[in-house]
Amino acid sequence: MNGEMGQDILKVLYTEEEIAARVRELGAEMAPKFQDKRPIFISVLRGAFIFMADIVRACQVPCDVEFIAVSSYGDATASSGVVKITHDIQQDISGRHLVVVEDILDSGNTLSFLQQYFLTKGAASVTICTLLDKPERRKKAIHADYVGFAVPDEFVVGYGLDYAQKYRNLPYIGILKPEVYSN
Ligand code: 5GP
Ligand code: MG
Repeated sequence: MNGEMGQDILKVLYTEEEIAARVRELGAEMAPKFQDKRPIFISVLRGAFIFMADIVRACQVPCDVEFIAVSSYGDATASSGVVKITHDIQQDISGRHLVVVEDILDSGNTLSFLQQYFLTKGAASVTICTLLDKPERRKKAIHADYVGFAVPDEFVVGYGLDYAQKYRNLPYIGILKPEVYSN
């Protein structure tokens, strides 16, 4: 919690070491399932970019990587419910096994939209791997196959997650002080 950004953090939820250990576990758990499937890992930009880099190295199977960007939030801390693709994947996914890599599953709007989108494009399967899950906030029926950590209903930043584009490069995950976004 040192440094200029650290001063805006109320509490560290997961340290760099705890995240690394959990991501290694998730990768090892996923590897046998995808061994012969040549999955496409699809990272949801921008929040999942750091998790993506770590999870593909933790899951040692031949794979492709893709990136998709969606917008729904702006700089607010609650989802608008409307999901728009601002950057699409670059390859044909029909018949392919996908692993959607997300930073946090909150209302479920983003992932239920993406799951439907990929199935409509002919994916053979869509597996959801999210670093964080806020189950209390769910509005859409969506199940994550792999979850790093369940978190309380607080606004968190770090390890890819931002507030107004800031804090993504904090190596840990922490709760942002409410006064940072309420004024
Ligand atoms: P959903 O569509 O499930 O409501 O929201 C998913 C997206 O909302 C995440 O990808 C993330 O960008 C954003 N989000 C939800 N909760 C938080 C949070 O606590 N902190 C941050 N930084 N983003 C969040
Ligand atoms: Mg996101």
